[in-house]
Amino acid sequence: MQSHYKNLTATQEAEQAWTTLEQAEGVFFDLDGCVYFGERIAEGAGELLQALRGQGKRVRFVTNNSTDSGEQVAARLARMGLEAQPEHIMTATELVGVHLFRQAGPLKLKAVGSQSLHAALERAGHRVLPLDSKQRVDMVVFGRDTTFSYAKLAAVLEEAERGTPVLGTNLDLHHPGVKGRVPETGALYAPVELILGRKLEAFGKPAPHMFRLTMEQCGIARPDLCVMVGDNLYTDVAGGRAAGMRTFWLYGPSLASSSGLPAAADPAASPASAPASTALIAAPAAAIPATTASTASVSAATGIPSAPTAAPAIPRDAVLPDHAVRDLMALASTIGAAGTSGM
Ligand SMILES: [Mg+2]
Repeated sequence: MQSHYKNLTATQEAEQAWTTLEQAEGVFFDLDGCVYFGERIAEGAGELLQALRGQGKRVRFVTNNSTDSGEQVAARLARMGLEAQPEHIMTATELVGVHLFRQAGPLKLKAVGSQSLHAALERAGHRVLPLDSKQRVDMVVFGRDTTFSYAKLAAVLEEAERGTPVLGTNLDLHHPGVKGRVPETGALYAPVELILGRKLEAFGKPAPHMFRLTMEQCGIARPDLCVMVGDNLYTDVAGGRAAGMRTFWLYGPSLASSSGLPAAADPAASPASAPASTALIAAPAAAIPATTASTASVSAATGIPSAPTAAPAIPRDAVLPDHAVRDLMALASTIGAAGTSGM
């Protein structure tokens, strides 16, 4: 069968994908909509991870999750039958404080978010003051907060109006849950942006920081020896490519629910005349750095690129993954791992 991806046959495409993985030293996976969907593990995930680890690849999970620590995410994966060391799970929750410390040393912060976020910021060396404290702080860190309230919104706005920088842990508007989409950090701080009339900066993917910290944690110096696998063209694929990594885009049914982008057609199932899916896959690679560069500005204080005007703002035909694979099972099949058993 002819593939729409670079006009390769399915076999050639699988061989190229396998070569990309074989040459990689690090293989990094997004979690939501990639390795799991809500509480359901992706088909082929266990076999794929086992095969990659068996080949000596450094497997890491890079997630914009700003609610849970690596330990909490590892426990969740374990409940679903997947083994992962907590230190191999790179969360925005834990890395935002590490990044800020490196950029600016110990800071006085206020934080909106989970207990895990507060604890991680303190572990990274910062002092976290109560949100209603009258003391001046260096920055407000804004993560996903399931007890977000009018009072918290008012407190963040008060800080922003007195000139305190407000940093979002991640710009995602939602992530996939058991009953559908779950509100994410970007949706919680959107009212602040509306009132201020400007976008806030965001730390997580597609900004380069989490990709760099993951490489460093693996001891890999060259981004071209890393592969990023994810379902979100904007955060995982465009971010990974901007960081210099190879990318696999999972274009399956998860896309609509996890990325904020419209659902993509299935390139493998579409006839050759389907313009939407072929345009997406065949877009010029040069469009990516230009697009990401034009949507982000960098704060002099934190070195953190600002969020683009809106997450889906990158035209869908401007992002070219190195490989487009329907789901993790398809990727596992590519390397002949789908038939193996166990974890
Ligand atoms: Mg995802």
